[in-house]
Amino acid sequence: MKTHPLDDISRLLDNAASAAGRPPPRLLAVSKTQPAGAVAGLVVLGQRAFGENYVQEAAAKIAELEQAEPGMPSLEWHLIGHLQSNKAREATALFDWVQTVDRAKLVAALARHRDPERGPLNVLVQVNIDDEASKHGCRPDEVEGLAAAIAGEPLLRLRGLMVIPTPHDDPELGRPAFRRSRALFDALRERYPQVDTLSMGMSSDAAIAIAEGATMVRIGTALFGARNLSSKGTSSGA
Ligand SMILES: *Cc1c(COP(=O)(O)O)cnc(C)c1O
Repeated sequence: MKTHPLDDISRLLDNAASAAGRPPPRLLAVSKTQPAGAVAGLVVLGQRAFGENYVQEAAAKIAELEQAEPGMPSLEWHLIGHLQSNKAREATALFDWVQTVDRAKLVAALARHRDPERGPLNVLVQVNIDDEASKHGCRPDEVEGLAAAIAGEPLLRLRGLMVIPTPHDDPELGRPAFRRSRALFDALRERYPQVDTLSMGMSSDAAIAIAEGATMVRIGTALFGARNLSSKGTSSGA
C-alpha cells in the first residue's frame, strides 16, 4: 500500500527522537507556494499546524480555506518569513505564532496590534546562529534583551527560539549550529519557564536537528514535493 509522505515524515521524526531519547517534535507543515487544496489534503490526515512565509499569501490561503471548507477544524498558522513592522497588524490578525521576531521594534508593533480577544500571540525569537551578514535574526547576545521585552508584553507569549542555520550539502556540517542553538534555548528556558519550543530543522536536516534537541521541525519539500524554483517561495521574506 502506498503511504502518504506525512506518514513517512512522522516515522522519520519519531525514529530520530527515540534514537535521541527525546519526545517526538511537533511537525510544522510549511505550505508556502502550495495551494489551499494541498493544505486541506493534510488536514484530512490530522495535520493542524502550518507555516507560511508571506503575510499576503497566507491571507489569501486562509480565506480560501475558510470559504471552501466549512466545518474545517481550526488550524494553527505560523509565520516563518521575515516580517516588516508595517505588516505587524495584519500578521497579528492572521497568525497564532510569529517565529521571526528579531528586533525590539517588531515586539512593540506586534504587542500594540494584537486583538486581546484572540489572546496572546505566541512568539519565537529568531536567532542568526551562524552570524551571516545577509540574514535576518538577532545576534545570540541580543536574545536576552528581546526575551525580556516579549515577556513584559501581556499580549505576547514567549515560547522559545527559531533558527535557520546556513545550509550545507552535507547536513552533518550543520550540527554545531544546532548545538549552539540548543545551548541558547536551555539558558532561556532556565529564566522563562513557559519557554518550550526550539524550532529548527527542515526537510534535509530534520533528523540532525532533532538529535540536537529540536522540539519543532519545519518541513515543506519532503511533505509537498519540490517548490517551483522560479516562484517567490524560494526566498524567505513576508
Ligand atoms: C521554506 C522553509 C522551510 C521548509 O523548507 P523545506 O526544505 O522545504 O523543508 C522551513 N523553514 C523556513 C523558514 C522556510 O522558509
